Amino acid sequence: MVTRWQRLRAGFGRMVDATRPGTLAAYQGLVAKAGAEEARIEKLTDEELTAAAIALRDRAEGGWSDRDRVEWCGLGREAARRTVDMRPFDVQLLGTLAMLSGSVVQMATGEGKTLVGALVAAGYATQGHQVHVISVNDYLAQRDAEWMGPLYELLGVSVGWLSQHSTSEQRRAAYAADVTYVSVSEVGFDVLRDRMATDVADVIVPEPDVAVVDEVDSVLVDEATIPLVLAGAVAGDESDRAITKIVGSLRVEEHYEIDEEGRNVFLTEAGADVIEQALGGIDLYAAEAGSTLAQVNVSLHAHALLRRDVDYLVKDGKVALINSSRGRVASLQRWPDGLQAAVELKEQVKVSEGGEVLDQMTVQSLLRRYKTLCGMSGTAAQVVENLQEFYQLGVRTADPNVPCIREDEPDRVYATVPQKDEAIVDYIFDRHEEGRPVLVGTLDVAESERLAKRLARRGLSCVVLNARNDASEAAIVAEAGAYGAITVSTQMAGRGTDIRLGGTENSQEEHDRVAEVGGLVVIGTGRHSSSRLDDQLRGRAGRQGDPGSSVFFTSIEDEIVQHYAPETEPAQDGETDEYGQLTSKRAQADLRHAQKVAEAVQLEIHRNTWRYNQLAEQQRTILLRHRDKLLTSDAALTELKQRCPDRYAELEKTVSEETLIKAARLIALFHVDRCWVDHLAFLADIRETIHLQALAREDPLTEFHRLSIPAFKELVSEAWERSAKTFEAANITEAHGLDLADAGLKRPNTTWTYLVQDNPFGNEDDRTIRHVAALLRKRRNSKR
Ligand code: ADP
Repeated sequence: MVTRWQRLRAGFGRMVDATRPGTLAAYQGLVAKAGAEEARIEKLTDEELTAAAIALRDRAEGGWSDRDRVEWCGLGREAARRTVDMRPFDVQLLGTLAMLSGSVVQMATGEGKTLVGALVAAGYATQGHQVHVISVNDYLAQRDAEWMGPLYELLGVSVGWLSQHSTSEQRRAAYAADVTYVSVSEVGFDVLRDRMATDVADVIVPEPDVAVVDEVDSVLVDEATIPLVLAGAVAGDESDRAITKIVGSLRVEEHYEIDEEGRNVFLTEAGADVIEQALGGIDLYAAEAGSTLAQVNVSLHAHALLRRDVDYLVKDGKVALINSSRGRVASLQRWPDGLQAAVELKEQVKVSEGGEVLDQMTVQSLLRRYKTLCGMSGTAAQVVENLQEFYQLGVRTADPNVPCIREDEPDRVYATVPQKDEAIVDYIFDRHEEGRPVLVGTLDVAESERLAKRLARRGLSCVVLNARNDASEAAIVAEAGAYGAITVSTQMAGRGTDIRLGGTENSQEEHDRVAEVGGLVVIGTGRHSSSRLDDQLRGRAGRQGDPGSSVFFTSIEDEIVQHYAPETEPAQDGETDEYGQLTSKRAQADLRHAQKVAEAVQLEIHRNTWRYNQLAEQQRTILLRHRDKLLTSDAALTELKQRCPDRYAELEKTVSEETLIKAARLIALFHVDRCWVDHLAFLADIRETIHLQALAREDPLTEFHRLSIPAFKELVSEAWERSAKTFEAANITEAHGLDLADAGLKRPNTTWTYLVQDNPFGNEDDRTIRHVAALLRKRRNSKR
């Protein structure tokens, strides 16, 4: 029985402590009432059920009452039972209600978030909203929309989905539905393309209203600062090639040095000499050589710091980036142009076409546009602060439907990496002997392949899963629960990969056979840079009350320790057992400390990137408002008439007002867009050079503002001046309107979209690491 006090406490939980997730207790009363309605609703015919759902639409004005919410839970439950053969558990209804109030809900893997997402989306739609269900990839958008389609239909809600292969007609149709399933990158790219429209009829994406975000922590936190980019074709730069070639011949220590953390690389004097001579005796450090020096640095970064099979793969003659939090190929991502080209040259593959950035937007800005944001994930509780700070979102945790009995063992920490590796193989061997399915999560592709080889030497065969496409990945992972299966995979943050005991055979007998030997065992070969990623891996085992266990093998030589807690003492005599495992208590604390530094650094970087992006976003918003006016009214002609009265008088004689309005609009839009492209390039430039100023002890952000604000202020007047010039000279006739090519207003004929792995240079990060690490260490020492 929930007391009033408990309910009150749950309701105020967030106000009391904004760093802790709340519970779902506040909704228990409503769900209990929905339970009491079940017998009545069961008797409705399909038509009556749909009619009852539609009747709720009419009551949506001003928001639903508690009574309406109860009715929604009852109808949703019955509709799901009839259409997709799942009767939503009480916890699923609790989660639905919390999300309908704009919360983020944490539900463990296998608890049925797809169904919850559909009940939430249909609920918002029934309240008259247009809903986007934001998925992490195209595969899940399609799968979930199709899977839940019949449920939507019975509830009287239309649903659509789109993917990167959809035509613009298909996109329009999908966005016109009440609920649209779409990946975060696709909706972002559509928004970017819309912002270049020169005719209102070409705009595809409706005004943002409600977003239901799946895997909400990866999207809103891990990927928040990734810019989505719309680019147009321009020719590549030959000088990069020469520089890459020279840099490729440099040798570590003699010509350049890498810092201890492996994040920065510096030219030595000898290295600078080699380059200066090869480029015809220039002075690299002279002020006018700034851009050459920047190119050299980019090249050196690609050459010395980016690692094949860790940071990227070479596949089918192309460089494919690896997304570090998902451990899989990020097919739509690339580095900023110069770096991308440098890596391609280093690997001797064809240099992909560079582009001029026409517009860009971070994932965070994309999602902050929605009036209502809610979401779900298996691991949101650790990012409560972050979601609150950047999105004003609260988090509530759902209890599992069946209590989780998975055993999470403490880390096994080894003195050295080879000792750890050996222990992992031994452990897998033993579990495999028992018949338990084993899922090993590795940190990168190269490691997964090395482990597969070591297992083979011990006579164990395994399925290696990395960097494949999402659909086949889901099918392979689904088999990971089969008796005796060994699956080695890079981190699988994504969903759509439900691991049933017994594999896809789906017989109770097989399930029980695997459960009897202990269920799935999950092994991590090292701590990730965030404990959420660790938890996502653990969460693969023990779904819906199944037995299972998880354990991480780590070493104080692991990269995360070297990088984030380099002061960690190596193992002392007597601290380890005969296999090199540390028996002392400090080992686990050291590992956790390193991870905490990594997490804090990530948050700092997020804040920092956001500070820079915010200014550009504000400027973009102002400019878009201006652009929108040009697009939807005759404002362009009004302005140009005023600026060029004689020219207007002359044109007026032969050209109709309607044609002139259109021509003026095209001219003004072209110049505004052009000026924005130049402004973006300018912002990118100052951001790059600002680190140098930071060395001169100026606050880089202040400096960034100081330079960018006046430039922006001039943008609109500059665009008008250019427009007036074009208006004076352009060829405008009644028969053909404005001659674009003749007026020099050709837009790029091909555009494409991609995501950028932002901030690859780590300069800011490194300062942040040292700062954060020192703070945490101080706090830790004072507690001792
Ligand atoms: P999650 O995304 O939370 O890991 P999914 O949405 O993929 O989980 O669902 C996991 C599995 O649980 C699916 O096979 C789904 O059919 C099943 N499932 C979810 N909800 C229910 C339910 N109420 N009754 C029966 N099965 C369910």
